Amino acid sequence: MAEVHPVIVGAGPAGIRAAQALVAAGLRPIVLDEAQRAGGQIYRQPPPGFHRSGRDLYGFEHRKAAHLHGTMRALLSAIDYRPGSMVWNCEDGILDVLRDGKNETVNYTHLILATGATDRVLPFPGWTLPGVYTLGGAQVALKYQGCGVGRRVAFMGTGPLLYLVAYQYAKAGAEVAAVLDTSNTTDRLAAVPGMMRAPGLAAKGLYTMGWLRLHGIPLYSGVRPDHVIGYDRVSGVVCRQGDGTDGKQLRIACDALAYGLGLRAETQLAAVAGCRFDYHERDRAWLPERDKAGRASVAGVYLAGDGAGIAGADAAELAGERAALALLEDLGMRVDTARATALQRKLERQEQVRNTLERAFPFPADWAASLDDDVVLCRCEEITVGTLRASAEVDGAREINRIKALTRVGMGRCQGRMCGAAAAEVLARASGVALPQVGWLRTQPPIKPIPVHLFSGDAPDEAGMTLAARGRR
Ligand SMILES: Cc1cc2nc3c(=O)[nH]c(=O)nc-3n(C[C@H](O)[C@H](O)[C@H](O)COP(=O)(O)OP(=O)(O)OC[C@H]3O[C@@H](n4cnc5c(N)ncnc54)[C@H](O)[C@@H]3O)c2cc1C
Repeated sequence: MAEVHPVIVGAGPAGIRAAQALVAAGLRPIVLDEAQRAGGQIYRQPPPGFHRSGRDLYGFEHRKAAHLHGTMRALLSAIDYRPGSMVWNCEDGILDVLRDGKNETVNYTHLILATGATDRVLPFPGWTLPGVYTLGGAQVALKYQGCGVGRRVAFMGTGPLLYLVAYQYAKAGAEVAAVLDTSNTTDRLAAVPGMMRAPGLAAKGLYTMGWLRLHGIPLYSGVRPDHVIGYDRVSGVVCRQGDGTDGKQLRIACDALAYGLGLRAETQLAAVAGCRFDYHERDRAWLPERDKAGRASVAGVYLAGDGAGIAGADAAELAGERAALALLEDLGMRVDTARATALQRKLERQEQVRNTLERAFPFPADWAASLDDDVVLCRCEEITVGTLRASAEVDGAREINRIKALTRVGMGRCQGRMCGAAAAEVLARASGVALPQVGWLRTQPPIKPIPVHLFSGDAPDEAGMTLAARGRR
């Protein structure tokens, strides 16, 4: 067999289970993760020396967290684990990795991308004010650093994370000013039949909401944000609940606001690896194509977990293992086909659960249309909603990369990771085309910011390529 260099990007639930399956087959994968400790987002570990119990950190999921961390510890001698390694480019069998302030290249013959997700947000007046955080960001502060983003925090948006993070903050001793849910009771009722198929999940959700209510925390549903109050820091948030004349205004005093509208897959590495994408209605996003086992359209590249489409941590574990089995199959190695089939069947069930959750907590599709022109949409380049709309109207731009060229939206530090979804929603509304036709922002390396000094004294590598040249291609 030719030499095999399997590399896994991401040491979350998907990446760890993928590594476990490769090790079980006798391979020694390189595992790269920009985080300093394994576990990914849900099972993120605090820095060594910070002591909070598993129950405090992970709540209902503490056993799963302990299990996954234990698996990773047991794998350490059998894998080449490189924490603190941010992969910023991926082309032609080579990864560019920022580690300890220096660039390293890592060659691969087979690559499993298990890069997870980030928060999905839409802009609204005041969202760039200090004190406004994403839900995930607020949770990271608590899980990783043991601190809150404020003393009196309001939580807004939709999705299970909304109630979970509010609950975690309240349990950790913060004052939760309110939970402002953009979805409503009708959405949740429509999801009841589906939730019967996931009674454990439904019970946890009901418990969390019930606990918040019992502790006197106001829960509002059917909410849309109006604006954040504050000059140089959040002092409150104003929202509307309900429509038209029946609608009422809510003014919530708080010193921090955490908000998010579900998650968006981190697909940039798949994009620079040359994978084909297709549109997914449920996620309202273009996602890398994959077969049921996780094979991408590029030979030797595999996709697992939330980075290929949001499905949750349990699904990520299953998909990581399945992708690793696909890799082994492609190498001509013997795999347990019954196990592979069982994993696929479980993944299909997880997909149904995810569909139900999306029904219970739908994306507020009307939000983008109601934004005033002066709201900043792309905060890196300070591009307003009005600039985008004007470009659609005056220049007739209908496609997101055309808008990017005309307005610079998505060209800043975040490379569209924060504003890309919002830009697509606003453009679709402004130009009257359907969201899939707007397309998705073409990704360029570096996919995340890297220090400029990496390019100084940039010597060609064995293939005669400089870093700058690789970043440009
Ligand atoms: C902030 C946040 C908080 C969440 N909290 C919860 C929660 O409390 N409960 C819950 O049920 N679900 C939560 N979720 C969802 C849950 O985390 C995911 O469903 C699950 O973790 C998916 O597992 P994964 O292995 O696909 O990805 P992840 O767990 O996200 O792991 C991906 C890993 O890839 C690494 N990575 C990504 N890009 C690169 C790169 N370019 N170079 C190197 N490394 C990279 C990341 O550092 C990360 O460790 C959260 C999601 C987010 C974004």
